[in-house]
Amino acid sequence: MTPTRRTFLKAGATGGLVSALGFDLSPAYAQSRELKISRTTETRSTCPYCAVSCGIIIHTIGDRAKNVTPAVVHVEGDPDHPINRGTLCPKGSSLMQDILNERRLLKPQVRRPGSNHWEDITWDRAFDEIGRHIKKTRDDTFVTTDTQGRTVNRVESIAFNGGCTDTNEFNYLVVKTMRSLGVCYLENQARV
Ligand code: SF4
Repeated sequence: MTPTRRTFLKAGATGGLVSALGFDLSPAYAQSRELKISRTTETRSTCPYCAVSCGIIIHTIGDRAKNVTPAVVHVEGDPDHPINRGTLCPKGSSLMQDILNERRLLKPQVRRPGSNHWEDITWDRAFDEIGRHIKKTRDDTFVTTDTQGRTVNRVESIAFNGGCTDTNEFNYLVVKTMRSLGVCYLENQARV
């Protein structure tokens, strides 16, 4: 059998594992890993943490029936991904804790001026408030000419900071939208 890159990496990860008492732990290690992912669905994705953009495989258990909530049971580097070839840095290796984290923020929150705490708001209300703030800030601070009288028509009081998981398509829309408002300060980490 011709080994694939994946089987080669698996063998490399388990080969030569010997306990302090001299037992070869490789079969036990391999079996426990296989048990963990034996009935899972594999989903290929990209690590969201930094611009290196390592490929990952998310293992989910659940038979996709309507009355079953799928659960992520394992995340690992994608051996077939050209960027990381199956490896992950410590941050990427902890991705499962990011996915399965009870403190993960799943709804918008706002901290009002002068307040010392965040409050939950609905998505509709968040969109309304963001739109209103952008319009007011733009109306109040729009710059039509620079100090030498040249036409610039720009907004210097708003900046857009993108996330590292933003796709090219998303960033295309961001640039279109922000530039149409006159916003000059755009920053992101896109590479997907
Ligand atoms: S695994 Fe590490 S290096 Fe790779 S994208 Fe994630 S944070 Fe960056």
